[in-house]
Amino acid sequence: RDSARTITSILGEVESLLVELEPELGRMDAVAGDGDHGQGMVLGIRAAHATAQRAAENGAGARTVLVQAGASWSADAGGTSGALWGAALTSLGSAFADDTAVDDEQLLTGLVQAVEAVERLGRAKPGDKTMVDAAVPFRESLAEAKGSGSSAADAVAAAAEKATAAAEDTADIAATMGRARNHGDKSVGTPDPGAISFSKIVTLLGEQLS
Ligand code: ADP
Ligand code: MG
Ligand code: MG
Repeated sequence: RDSARTITSILGEVESLLVELEPELGRMDAVAGDGDHGQGMVLGIRAAHATAQRAAENGAGARTVLVQAGASWSADAGGTSGALWGAALTSLGSAFADDTAVDDEQLLTGLVQAVEAVERLGRAKPGDKTMVDAAVPFRESLAEAKGSGSSAADAVAAAAEKATAAAEDTADIAATMGRARNHGDKSVGTPDPGAISFSKIVTLLGEQLS
């Protein structure tokens, strides 16, 4: 129950972050895409947070809160990133139980699974200029930290630094996936909006866990 409340409160922090980033993410997406990434992320997190709040108030545990929040994110956000973030939350929740608190080991396992769900569903590879460019280094860093004895908070913070560097590096690549692929060359010089939003969210997560 405590974990469900913590998760809901972190989703609330992510909502504030995405509201703040909305214009910037939209501008980034408009360079080679359709400009709706900020809007989609705000719609998604708003629905996910509201659903999590309702579920937690009704006594749901960590697993149910995240599985339902993921479904809401996908349903309300629309767009490619909405489907992927919804799957990520649902997959994260699937690593948890409803009747026990989430421990560090479960959290790291869940985060690795969440990235794997994004990779499986989107079928993008690093270098395609998508959120996967940031998510894969994040996942690899977490997998290394697992079993090394470091806390989940430290592991997530370190992995988020890898994700941030990788997201910034996507500025050098031409887009090939999603809608942006039609205007790939125009995107050179601008980072991928989905990689940037991913790196900002996991950076906030590291801060919230510490
Ligand atoms: P849409 O492209 O449907 O308008 P958004 O603008 O919200 O959706 O999201 C765009 C982001 O989605 C891109 O910047 C990219 O990071 C991510 N993306 C697009 N296609 C894929 C994919 N196949 N796998 C992973 N991420 C993807
Ligand atoms: Mg878009
Ligand atoms: Mg769109």
